[in-house]
Amino acid sequence: MKPIHMAIAAIAALLTTAHSNAQVNYTQASTQFETITLGDAQAVKLRIYDNGAGGKPVKTVQLKKRGNDKNGYPTWDALIKGDLKGKFYTLDVKYGGQYRGECAGLGAKAVGVNGRRGAVIDMKSTDPAGWESDVTPDIAAKDLVLYEMHHRDFSIDASSSLNNKGKFLALAEPRAIAHLKALGVNAVHMLPSFDYASVDESRLEDNKYNWGYDPLNYNVPEGGYSTDPFNPASRISEFKTMVQALHKAGIKVILDVVYNHTFNIDGSNFQRIMPDEFFRKNQDGTYSDGSGCGNETASDRQVMRDYMVESVKYWVEEYHIDGFRFDLMGVHDIETMNAIRAALPPHIYIYGEGWSAGSCAYPHEKLGMKAHINQMPGIAAFSDDIRDALRGPFSDDTKPAFLAGLPGNEESIKMGIVGAIEHPQVDYSKVNYSKEPWTLQPTQMISYVSCHDDMCLVDRLKASIPGITTDELIRLDLLAQTAVFTSQGVPFMLSGEEMLRDKKGVHNSYESPDSINHLNWTNLETYPQVFNYYSRLIALRKNHPAFHMGDAQLVRKHVEFLPSQDALVAFRIKAGAPGETWGDIYVVLNGSKRVRTVNVPEGNYTVVCRNISINEDGIDTTTGGNVAVPAQSALIFHN
Ligand code: CA
Repeated sequence: MKPIHMAIAAIAALLTTAHSNAQVNYTQASTQFETITLGDAQAVKLRIYDNGAGGKPVKTVQLKKRGNDKNGYPTWDALIKGDLKGKFYTLDVKYGGQYRGECAGLGAKAVGVNGRRGAVIDMKSTDPAGWESDVTPDIAAKDLVLYEMHHRDFSIDASSSLNNKGKFLALAEPRAIAHLKALGVNAVHMLPSFDYASVDESRLEDNKYNWGYDPLNYNVPEGGYSTDPFNPASRISEFKTMVQALHKAGIKVILDVVYNHTFNIDGSNFQRIMPDEFFRKNQDGTYSDGSGCGNETASDRQVMRDYMVESVKYWVEEYHIDGFRFDLMGVHDIETMNAIRAALPPHIYIYGEGWSAGSCAYPHEKLGMKAHINQMPGIAAFSDDIRDALRGPFSDDTKPAFLAGLPGNEESIKMGIVGAIEHPQVDYSKVNYSKEPWTLQPTQMISYVSCHDDMCLVDRLKASIPGITTDELIRLDLLAQTAVFTSQGVPFMLSGEEMLRDKKGVHNSYESPDSINHLNWTNLETYPQVFNYYSRLIALRKNHPAFHMGDAQLVRKHVEFLPSQDALVAFRIKAGAPGETWGDIYVVLNGSKRVRTVNVPEGNYTVVCRNISINEDGIDTTTGGNVAVPAQSALIFHN
């Protein structure tokens, strides 16, 4: 009995996969095109082209209705004999007597320039040599150090000395890898790298910039980051080459995924294949806009949920992706996020923005908000609590906080230090946003002070602390990151902070030119103390398990706060954390402009961080008692 049951289950799973996410299956002898539609679709036209854009179809075929998928949507398909490799295609569905317009369809794995036509390619031929033995680095969630980067920011400036500027391939170059390794980050989180619509791939010489939150084809890499967007295989093979190089260096690859909205409604694959099925609407029939980008997808509907699940699985299987950062996760429903968690292997790290950008046409209590993270085990969210406690509120760039020496943010920082878990010494009634613990485990909280959104740290410090000197700027920058990297949450940094990047005060640089967004690598020589501190801070964290215990019970047992002072937070990580070689570790974060004093038991301590200098082997010693903490900096010592 058992083997038969298993065989049936396997076939059912195959059918589900094939039908929930329409397919193009290529072999040398034939290509099969398949899609789902709404029940009232009258016809599906397939056009075959020689090119990815322009020209007339070389063949036009009507798909045939075959049956229904598991959700009851009609399935259509066509088998074209002969070798179609190198050809392009569009699908066009007729409803109410009218064709809705050509598109690449729901299941395109390869596309032509600008993603308007699907491409028939042999996916196997896009694998770089050795791809079959590519393995994901073995790094547990508690050990991750996330580095958020944009392909163009990272490499575009001449000072990067990278050859493939603004391309996936830049990250495969030894200079790029060496920088990441020296810094010590072990996961790159790449801003949208799927095919997005806002940069014209046929005119890359215009050097147009965009973050890429304008999804067009979810299952295809962006052409603008390839060396040849006209060649459908280029973006795919170069993306894989990048992943392979990072994996070889022990660095995970995390994708920023934006399933919450599409570039537009009418031009989207969703709307052209299945009108209104993928988007949420308000009571009055207008489209809801919880994304703030003109529309909001309906993850709560099975067809969209299946689409998301199949899409992330595809990125893992085809591209060996190690994690996903969900843009506006608060637009998606909890059930879908949990379905995604369940569908992916445990080593895939999942986190997101636990908020939306507008109100959603779905009950708030069912959405993937930060406050609901405790209903989504194995999924993390960004902590705006610690971010804003350090730098000031997102709503006003000129408002300062802890880093400016202001009192009142201590409890929010303590919450960030323990990873937003329940802790007997954290009074959530005094936390800025979250009035109760919102994680089950500390690895469900992303600890950070800056990301691509809003001002980068340098700009924020300048905007919120008028007249700040360069010395003060550096001190506070390093203090902020010390809070981030001594948190039991998962630390996250914006690329370029290690070079003291600025964006000339631009708050929302989503389409600003390279001159605003680029990293200036000469800063590494101008401010060597910044990179030194960042890299030593990261090494300190990685070398000492006490800083990333990864377990709520252990954090409650070992992290003990000293009495807070105005703009000063201090804690001890008690000896005995699993794997920890040091004894008691004391961390003091002093945001004030004055030297402060903390009282600790007398003993023989080694100071490893003081006055913006870090050395794990020891800078100095102290015998405890009343210990002085220099202004605007962190102090770390242990016995
Ligand atoms: Ca594109």
